[in-house]
This record gives sequence, structure tokens and C-alpha cells, in this order.
Amino acid sequence: MKTNRTFTMIKPDAVANGHIGAIVDKITKSGFKIIALKYTFLTPEKAGQFYEVHAARPFYKDLVSFMSSGPIVAAILEKDNAIEDFRKLIGATDPSKAEEGTIRNLFAKSIDANAVHGSDSDENAEIEGSFFFSAFEKF
Ligand code: ADP
Ligand code: MG
Repeated sequence: MKTNRTFTMIKPDAVANGHIGAIVDKITKSGFKIIALKYTFLTPEKAGQFYEVHAARPFYKDLVSFMSSGPIVAAILEKDNAIEDFRKLIGATDPSKAEEGTIRNLFAKSIDANAVHGSDSDENAEIEGSFFFSAFEKF
């Protein structure tokens, strides 16, 4: 089912570098409506669960450690064609390959510390959003 919703995190690097405001501004100016928003953090255990699908990848341990290294911002966003449009707005996983003007091009420094997360499917957006927000927190 197409939900027109996606899930994002502003990752520890972008929070630490003071980019929360600029990133949220870019997201809302690009037509995404904020359904839920939270300043929080992942423990290593929670980060491990969130990225379980990558458990077999060589970068998994570093990813879990990075994602639990500081606070994050988690959000559910809504827009027509949300998944695809948001992936376009954030740019390629590796910021050196991210198109000019994308969030990762502007705010990310490396392939691991790449400023933002964006869900890759409607199904995962629902799972990931529910990882952080209860039904009463999603407007
Ligand atoms: P995306 O976040 O663009 O959907 P993936 O789902 O493939 O990318 O990977 C999840 C996250 O794992 C990435 O955003 C990045 O933080 C990290 N990651 C991916 N590939 C690598 C890599 N080759 N080396 C280090 N970290 C990586
Ligand atoms: Mg992904």
C-alpha cells in the first residue's frame, strides 16, 4: 500500500555539526509535511535492531557504534511520492557521489557519517516510523 509517508533520521554527525535547523528547513521547503518529530538517541542495542537488515555487512559494527554515538532527530514525513522524492532530496549514500544541492552533498562528510537516513520502501517507512513513534505521536 502506498502511504505517501517516509521516515528520516538526522544522524549524529549532522546533529553534532549544528545542521538540524538547516536540514529541517530544507525538508519542509521541499514540500514534506512533518507528521512526527523527536530529538532522541539510539542505544547500541536499539541501533543494532534498527539496522538489523545490514547485520551481515562489513560496516555493520561501525554503523551501530556511529548511530549510537550521539543524539539524533527522528521524523515521519508526508508528501506525494514521499519515498522516492525524499531519496532524491538526500542524494546518494556516498556524499561524494550525491548530486549538488542534496542534503548529503551539503551536510555529509563520509559514506558512514552521511547526515541523514531515508526509508527505501513504504513497508520499511512504516516499520521504521513505528520503531520511534506510537500511534498517538503520529498526527
Ligand atoms: P542508505 O542510507 O543510502 O539507504 P544503506 O541502506 O545501503 O544506505 O546503508 C545504511 C547506512 O550504512 C548508510 O546510510 C551509511 O551510514 C552506512 N553505510 C552504507 N554503506 C557503507 C559503507 N560502504 N561503509 C560504511 N558505512 C556504510
Ligand atoms: Mg537504506
